[in-house]
Amino acid sequence: MEILPVRRASRGLNLLPAKKSFQELGATAIAFCRRHSLLLFYCGLALLALLLYHYASHTVTLYVDGEELFTAHSFSRTVEEFLQERGIQLHPRDRVIPERGSLLGRHTRIDVQKAFEVVVVDGNKLSFIMTPVVPVREMLAAEGFELGPFDRIEPAGLEEVYEGAFIKIIRVQKHYVSSRSNVPYEEVVRENPQLDRGLSRVIREGRPGLQEELIEVTTENGVEVKREIVGTLLLDEPQARIVEQGTNTTLEREGRVMEFERVLTVTATAYCPGTPGSGCPLDRNGHAFCTGPYNNGYTYTGKKAVQGLGTLSSPRLVAVDPRVIPLGSLLYIEPIPGIGKIGFARAEDIGGAIKGYRIDLLYDYHRDVAKFGLRRGVKVYILKEK
Ligand SMILES: [Zn+2]
Repeated sequence: MEILPVRRASRGLNLLPAKKSFQELGATAIAFCRRHSLLLFYCGLALLALLLYHYASHTVTLYVDGEELFTAHSFSRTVEEFLQERGIQLHPRDRVIPERGSLLGRHTRIDVQKAFEVVVVDGNKLSFIMTPVVPVREMLAAEGFELGPFDRIEPAGLEEVYEGAFIKIIRVQKHYVSSRSNVPYEEVVRENPQLDRGLSRVIREGRPGLQEELIEVTTENGVEVKREIVGTLLLDEPQARIVEQGTNTTLEREGRVMEFERVLTVTATAYCPGTPGSGCPLDRNGHAFCTGPYNNGYTYTGKKAVQGLGTLSSPRLVAVDPRVIPLGSLLYIEPIPGIGKIGFARAEDIGGAIKGYRIDLLYDYHRDVAKFGLRRGVKVYILKEK
């Protein structure tokens, strides 16, 4: 019996021979690819599609006014496209962060701040404006409100707009005007011990100066609210008025040195007692011309109405206005041109016409009264009595 050697069917069964060259392995792979080329093509295509999907799709989370609405996958490139793709209608003034044109990333958060209405009053013009939360100045700039350097926004300190805000723009303008005005002069008083107390002398008259003032006028919404002097230019210096005032209170007359309160310059007239012996004419009612019904021969203070000699022991009698010269005062009356020496006198009477800086000098006889007339600029010293 012939024993046949066992034939090895090596093809297809013995895939991993211990010693197989790379060339053989390559040939096997090429053969496999040739046999299954269509399958490989579809596998490649699927892999490519998977990669494309992975890299082209984005995960987007949408927030509206801080609240999360949804998360979605999208192939949109930009925020704008995503919103359109999702059919989200926005007001043009709604604020979108990131901005509408921004490219989407792998994971993108989109925040939408819904616009709301605010009221803007610019001067007298009222506007209703839709805006998201933005700084006030940014909102005004976006709406075309230009603010001048002094313009003010009310409420003051309002940084960001809020829903229903009432924003006022106060238009503040400043302009300048100039005006000329007088500068008042001062009065300088100097003491003069050579001049009697009660007398004064103008040494130099005053003269006002001239100045130009620059005035800043502020208007708010066209109405003037403030006027302020911001600059002064002195065009002409004022000239002070200089007055000398007497301080001397010593009078030396008729060998006597006397002290006086003050000296007055008065208007003097004369009168008589109106008694039958005085020769005073009578009026229609039978009253004396000088004293009317008061012709009893006594003064208002009860002194006998006699002319007197003008000496210290026998002074002349005068009627005065007691508001200017107190009744009972001892006076020294300087000589009157055309009349002569008067001398010492006492204020003992009053008279209806003797008001203010007036004195009425008593004469015994009416003929002297007629001669006396009216004398201005009579100097009267009110003496101090020890
Ligand atoms: Zn008379």
